[in-house]
Amino acid sequence: MIRPLNKFLIGLALAAASLPSHAGINVLACEPEWEALTIELGGDKVKVSSATNALQDPHRIEARPGLIARTRNADLLVCTGLELESGWLPVLVQQSGNAKIGYGQPGYLEIGALVPRLDVPAKVDRSEGDVHASGNPHIQQDPRNIALAAVALSKRLAQLDPSNAAYYRARQQDFANRWTAAMRKWEQQAAPLRGVAVVEHHKNMEYLMGWLGLHAVGMLESKPGVEPSAAHLGELLGVLQRQPAKMVLRAAYQDGRASAWLHERAHIPAVVLPFTVGGDDKAKDLFSLFDLTVQRLLEAAK
Ligand SMILES: [Zn+2]
Repeated sequence: MIRPLNKFLIGLALAAASLPSHAGINVLACEPEWEALTIELGGDKVKVSSATNALQDPHRIEARPGLIARTRNADLLVCTGLELESGWLPVLVQQSGNAKIGYGQPGYLEIGALVPRLDVPAKVDRSEGDVHASGNPHIQQDPRNIALAAVALSKRLAQLDPSNAAYYRARQQDFANRWTAAMRKWEQQAAPLRGVAVVEHHKNMEYLMGWLGLHAVGMLESKPGVEPSAAHLGELLGVLQRQPAKMVLRAAYQDGRASAWLHERAHIPAVVLPFTVGGDDKAKDLFSLFDLTVQRLLEAAK
């Protein structure tokens, strides 16, 4: 015979089991774009935060205690990889003592390994600055890369949380439909940008330029990761007299002084792109990020 109290406890357990499961997986994204994508695909089944924000240089951050705690509790780490985080992520993972999210584990997803890469050097020469052996890691400004990332991320969520696999699959399908339609819209809007010449601050706009058909005639940095010098900017001004550019681009996290200098002397618009989600108040999610990016480029190219 089951005593009334036991019966009550069994009842409670059954009620709890039939409740919709929530916050099944703890995700730590290295960059805001992967946090935003995790929200799109994981909905209320995931808890996610980002190690870096849009106003930080993703190459360099400091591992604060709060971030170490989030790393310790993560079931899944979603990062660009391609050495973008090599200055801080290995130390962070090691300090967290969380073996589940180590390199090569199901708890680690490297998006950069899944996309076609640009600027893969024939040989790595560190004297050429911050050169990445695996290619240019700033992959998130080509929405086709986001589409590839979504497929892999939804599969990984389903693998780690099989009881919600159907949910992740349905959200991925819905996201893919909306994303494909949005890409078509952006590509139509951006048609006038084909062939437009620009100057970029750092070599971090290549995927965006490759997607929309822009090309760079110069960089504010003399070498990747080396801040612009007066001598280099002077040379660049000379180059622009022979090969004019329509605008100078920088990401929201980059210092604006070199851009402003060139804007004044070369008389071209200095354009700040959000670069990732949160880089501008209007870039609230992945869709508004690209809406705003295309809009800023079109305004400057007029
Ligand atoms: Zn870089």
